[in-house]
Amino acid sequence: MTVLITNDDGIASPGMHALARALAAVMPVAVVAPEHERSATGHAITLHKPLRAVRLALPGLDAPVWATNGTPADCVVLGVLDLLPQRPEVVVSGINAGPNLGGDLTYSGTVSGAMEGAIMGIPSVAVSVGADDAPRFDVAAEVAVRLVQLVREHGLPADTLLNVNVPNLPRDRLRGMVATHQGRRRYINRLDKRRDPRGQTYYWLGGEREPAPDEEGTDAWALQQGMVSVTPIQMNMTATGLIAELGRLLRDISL
Ligand code: MN
Repeated sequence: MTVLITNDDGIASPGMHALARALAAVMPVAVVAPEHERSATGHAITLHKPLRAVRLALPGLDAPVWATNGTPADCVVLGVLDLLPQRPEVVVSGINAGPNLGGDLTYSGTVSGAMEGAIMGIPSVAVSVGADDAPRFDVAAEVAVRLVQLVREHGLPADTLLNVNVPNLPRDRLRGMVATHQGRRRYINRLDKRRDPRGQTYYWLGGEREPAPDEEGTDAWALQQGMVSVTPIQMNMTATGLIAELGRLLRDISL
């Protein structure tokens, strides 16, 4: 049984190479990844142009590898429905350079790769490392191997995935793993308005993280504590606690 690896940083990403090599040492893997970086593409899928997959080889990895012109979610669909000879046992997306915490999940191509795996009924894990500057992919890859083994052993409920964030610390400074909930990470100064060399206005989206303390038990809090954050994520976005009250309010509207 094979582990399908994808990512959103693209086929050339050293984070994905570290993940693939570490997993391949203990179990069969196959890689299907975007040919270019597709970070922050969320759960986009390609419906209006042809998808292509090109077989290639990655140095130091004895496993089938494809690069596609699709998004991370496209890659999982192509891998599961056609490219891999059998249905993968687990889908792993990453290792992303930079964390995926709180509100990042909505935008994250890394998390969406794992979501697509969950939608297809395959236990899935998204893995990110806590810094995009000098990320320690080898440490995060070791953590990823342990969690893939856990998921293979215990499975995951339907329509759920694990979102894993590994602090960017040396191996001996990691303070264990903790199950967390999704925090509320916000950004400030999100829009940069500039002028190009021809005098035209352009915008650059981004921003920095709000310097507010993170609530205990959240994904961002765990990372600050030097712990690996493992958040179980479910696909159903219903605000269950609001159904009864909303129902009462709607009954008062006569149609
Ligand atoms: Mn990325």
